[in-house]
Amino acid sequence: MSKLGKLYTGKQYIKRREWRGFRDTMYDFYRWLVTWKDLIKFVFSSPLRITRGIFTYRWMGSYLTTTAFIDRHSMGLRGTALRINHLHFNMMIKNTTQLIANQFKADKRFGKSTKLSDKIVLFDEMMPMHLMAGFPNLFGVPIQVAPVFQCSVIDQQSMIQYLDAVENFGLPSDVCPLPACEAGAGILDDYPQIGCCYVSSSMPCDGSVMASAFQSRYFDLPTFPLTLPVRYLDMETEAYAVQNMKDCIAFIEKHTGETYDWDAYFTAMKQYNKETEFEMQKWEINKTEYPQITGASLALYRMYSFLVAASMDKRFLKVQEKVNKLMMKGYEKKEKCSKEMRHRAVVWAPPAHYYSNFSTWAENCWGINVLIDMESLVATKFFNTEDKEETLKDLAHTYERMTMRRHTNGGFVNVLDELWNVCKEFNCDMVIMYVGISCKTMAGLTGLFEEQARDRGIHLIWVDHDLMDPRTVSRKEMRGFVNRYMTTVLREEPVDESLVDFNDEKTW
Ligand code: SF4
Repeated sequence: MSKLGKLYTGKQYIKRREWRGFRDTMYDFYRWLVTWKDLIKFVFSSPLRITRGIFTYRWMGSYLTTTAFIDRHSMGLRGTALRINHLHFNMMIKNTTQLIANQFKADKRFGKSTKLSDKIVLFDEMMPMHLMAGFPNLFGVPIQVAPVFQCSVIDQQSMIQYLDAVENFGLPSDVCPLPACEAGAGILDDYPQIGCCYVSSSMPCDGSVMASAFQSRYFDLPTFPLTLPVRYLDMETEAYAVQNMKDCIAFIEKHTGETYDWDAYFTAMKQYNKETEFEMQKWEINKTEYPQITGASLALYRMYSFLVAASMDKRFLKVQEKVNKLMMKGYEKKEKCSKEMRHRAVVWAPPAHYYSNFSTWAENCWGINVLIDMESLVATKFFNTEDKEETLKDLAHTYERMTMRRHTNGGFVNVLDELWNVCKEFNCDMVIMYVGISCKTMAGLTGLFEEQARDRGIHLIWVDHDLMDPRTVSRKEMRGFVNRYMTTVLREEPVDESLVDFNDEKTW
C-alpha cells in the first residue's frame, strides 16, 4: 500500500522521490533531469541579463523550485497518465521560461537599448493575446504571468510579500488576492521595465477594477482599456465588442508603426482550432469509464495554451498531438489513470493558486478523480479563419465567456445550469466547489447550489481558500473540508491514510 504522506517532512517538499516501479521511476527521474536542462538552457539564453534578473526580481527565486512544483502534480501517477502529465508540464515550463527570457532581454533596467522593448506590447493576463498573432514582428507579453500567476502556483509563499505590500499601502485586506498581488508587485516595483504600450483589463469585479487602474498608472505607458461586455447574452453587445477589438488593433498599430497582418492571424487561429479539437477529444475520453487525464494538468495546460501562448507557439500543437496519441493508446488498453477511482468529480469556481495540486491529493487520498475543471472550459468555440468580421466575433464571444467572466460573474444561469450539464456529461457523482473567500460574486449562490445538488443526488463538497494567500486558509485546512465530508457524510476509508493529515504549510 502506498504511503505518499510519508514523503512529506513538513519542512521541505519531500524527503525522497516516489518509488513507482523501475520503469516509471526512471521515466520520472529522466523528466526531472529534462526540467533542469530546460532551466539551465534558459539561463544560458542570456546569462548576464538572466543572472541580473535573478538578483533583481523577488519572484525569480521561486522558479528554482520548478521541479518540486511538477513533482507535486505527478504524485501517484503511473504509465500513460505519468507520461501525459510530464509532457503537459514540460511544455508549460518551456513556454514560460522563453517568456521570462524575452522580458529580461528587453528589460530597460539591465541596459539602455530599448529596441526589443519597443517591440513589446503588454497585455493584462486576462485579455485576448490572440490579437497579437496579427503582429508577427512584435511580442505580446501577458505581464502578470511570470511575477504573479505562474509564480503563485509554483511557490505558495511567493505572494505573501505582495499582499503585505498592498495592504500596507492602504488596500483593505478583504479584496481578492489575485488583483491585490498584481497591484502589490507594482508597489514593490517587481515588474520588468518593458513595452511600448499596454492593453489593460476590464474584469468585472471590484479588485480587478482597482488593480487595472493602479497598474495603468504604474506602467506609465499609453493604455488601451479593452472593455468586453459582460452582458454578452444580449446580442446587441456583439457589435460593440467587435468594434472594441478593432480599436485595440488600431491602437497597437499607432504605437508600434506596424500594420495588422490578417494572414498571420488566420494561420494562428487555424492552430487554435486544432488545439481546441484535441482538447475536446480529451474531454470525450474523460467522459468514459477509462479517463486518461485527471487532476490539475488538464486545466493548467489548456489555460497556458489558450491564455499565455494564445496559439502562437507551434510546440503546443506538437505536444497535443503526442499526448492525444498516448491517451488513445491508454484508453484502448483500458488503462487506469489512478490506483482507485471511487468518485467521478468536477471542480468548480476559481481554484487556490497556492494549492493547484489539490485534485492530485484528492485522487491519491480518497480516490476522487477530477475529470474536468471549470478552468478547462474557457474556450470551446471554433474560430472563423477567413472572414475578419466573423473571426473578431468569435474572439469576442470567447473572451466574454472566459475565466471568471462567465462562470464567476456571469449570473446564476451560467454558473449553475452549466455545472449540472457538465456533471451529467461526465457522469460525475461529486462536485468539489471552491469558495474563494474574497470572491464575493459566488457567495450569493450557496443556497441554490446546495438545493440543486441535493435534488440531483450529487455530493457537493465546499472547500474554502483564499486564492493566493495560504495564511488565511492553509493547504491543510483545505484538505480538512474533504476529509470531514468523506468520513462523516460518506463514512469512507481513505485510499492512502498517510495523506489524510500531514504538514506542508512551510513548503513551497
Ligand atoms: S476570483 Fe473573483 S474577485 Fe478575484 S479576480 Fe476573479 S472574479 Fe474577481
